[in-house]
Amino acid sequence: MAELLVVEDEEKIGQLLVSALSANGYSVVWRQDGAGALSAARSGSFDLVLLDLGLPDVDGIEVCRMLKRQQPGCIVVVLTARRDEMDVIEGLESGADDYLTKPFRMTELLARVRAHLRRASAGDFVQEVFTTGELTLDPAARRCLVRDQEVALRPKEFDLLARLASEAGRAVSREALMDDVWDRNWFGSTKTLDVHIAALRRRLADAADGMEPPALVPAITTLRSHGYRLELESRAVGELDQG
Ligand code: CA
Repeated sequence: MAELLVVEDEEKIGQLLVSALSANGYSVVWRQDGAGALSAARSGSFDLVLLDLGLPDVDGIEVCRMLKRQQPGCIVVVLTARRDEMDVIEGLESGADDYLTKPFRMTELLARVRAHLRRASAGDFVQEVFTTGELTLDPAARRCLVRDQEVALRPKEFDLLARLASEAGRAVSREALMDDVWDRNWFGSTKTLDVHIAALRRRLADAADGMEPPALVPAITTLRSHGYRLELESRAVGELDQG
């Protein structure tokens, strides 16, 4: 779960941010001034900081510089009510990765947060050949094998399986799957996801059942109101962790 730090002195906006981000599955810490933000950043490790520039104690831009010095890998998205161009530029020169002008739409903010976090974790996506049981996935060649027989998957089915395999044994939220396999601007029905999962299960099961003896392929488990998990044998988990 991504860890977010919200730095916002306005009670109402802070509460809205915390509840929207929590509802989207992020772990959120909220601080209302610069000193509090820096001390939270010293004691914790955050993937992304939402930083209001107009803080009661320290200037937000200074907070941004210090955050970036403390945690260079941390993404900082600046929230600003200051509309003039110079402040925006200065905000980016301070090391900020992105900015949103107040008032902003919550859907826009959530989309930006997701996009930043996804880019940050893009390296986690499987690149190498992945094997569990008798299932083999070769992303470079875009081949899916059960035992030694190729299973014809549609492009989105392949992407979905690769995304699940990138976190095999772990829960992957519907949101993450939709974002990574479809795209950040895809706001249609998430029924599409379930349809593709069902097709994927059927193709894997058909391939495995058609073999003598039936091949061992991992199940895709439905996690009610959360997402899906590609099951993994415990021994393969250890091998994957080392890799
Ligand atoms: Ca403020």
